[in-house]
Amino acid sequence: MLGYEAEELMNESAHKTWHYSKANSTAYSETECPICVACKSGIVREERNEVFWRKDGTNFPVSFICSPIFEDGKIVGSVINFKDITEIKQIEEELTRSNADLKEFAYVTSHDLKEPLRIIAGFAELLKRRYKDRIDEKGNEFIKFIEDEVKRLQNLIGDLLDYSQVGTKEKEYQPTECTSLVEKVVISLKTAIEDSGAKVTYDNLPTITADKSQLKRLFQNLISNAIKFRSVKPPVIHISAGRKGNSWVFSIRDNGIGIDPKLSEKIFTVFHRLHTRAEYPGTGIGLAICKKVVERHGGQIWVESEPGKGSTFYFSIPDRV
Ligand code: ADP
Repeated sequence: MLGYEAEELMNESAHKTWHYSKANSTAYSETECPICVACKSGIVREERNEVFWRKDGTNFPVSFICSPIFEDGKIVGSVINFKDITEIKQIEEELTRSNADLKEFAYVTSHDLKEPLRIIAGFAELLKRRYKDRIDEKGNEFIKFIEDEVKRLQNLIGDLLDYSQVGTKEKEYQPTECTSLVEKVVISLKTAIEDSGAKVTYDNLPTITADKSQLKRLFQNLISNAIKFRSVKPPVIHISAGRKGNSWVFSIRDNGIGIDPKLSEKIFTVFHRLHTRAEYPGTGIGLAICKKVVERHGGQIWVESEPGKGSTFYFSIPDRV
């Protein structure tokens, strides 16, 4: 990996041979060098963002652990365990780039796409006002279609924007008390709960380390879906949580229309809906956002359902160490 024969490195200082400069080619002093420091102090040093230099003067990114060797209480050398992290670095850079692309995309959707929509809505409004006497009933119906579709597109753009923004902000993990979070979500859904006659109950839920606003969004989407996709019976919804391995698994159970098990994975993709808008309003992005939030927390989301009997959505959130 370094381009040297073993003999060439015998009795040579690691620092001087292949660790003499930093990635930006400035000299690495022995007092700063973690390998030298480890060998002097006897303390194990671990580094993730360094480079080692090859014989031909090129370098490659490494992560390494330098463990001093003791003999009779004296430091006589060290074991340097290192890994070429070129590929990991490339993946990280790719990820940074695609996140930047996503932010750019969010910006374009919010500004460039919303603007013409506002203009279309404005002209529809003008037609209605200025040509009121000249447009017949059918014409007014057409204008209403334009307005409805503009609204629909505005909702789609808003939801897509939300979807693209999950995960682009700095991570903000904090201890999150789920019982009070769910309580807040239930209060925010008061109108939908009252209109449908829903009964929402929840167990004592744990405190977990999570992005609070995203977790709120997750519960909001799942509980409002449980209300929206109700059967003829008033919705009965229950939220609970249990331990599985090193994760908390939350469940949101409803007595709604249920989901065909064959389609239970598809519903988590963007725009995938099982119903027409006339039956149930929506854009088909809610569960895609849920999936993104859960995966960003290192967990999984899935559904178990029997059509006609109700669904239970589960999501796991692993402990953070
Ligand atoms: P939307 O609610 O806008 O349609 P979602 O992404 O939230 O979009 O849901 C996708 C689809 O999954 C819904 O259109 C519906 O067919 C199905 N679905 C979601 N939640 C439930 C539920 N609790 N019961 C039955 N079907 C559901």
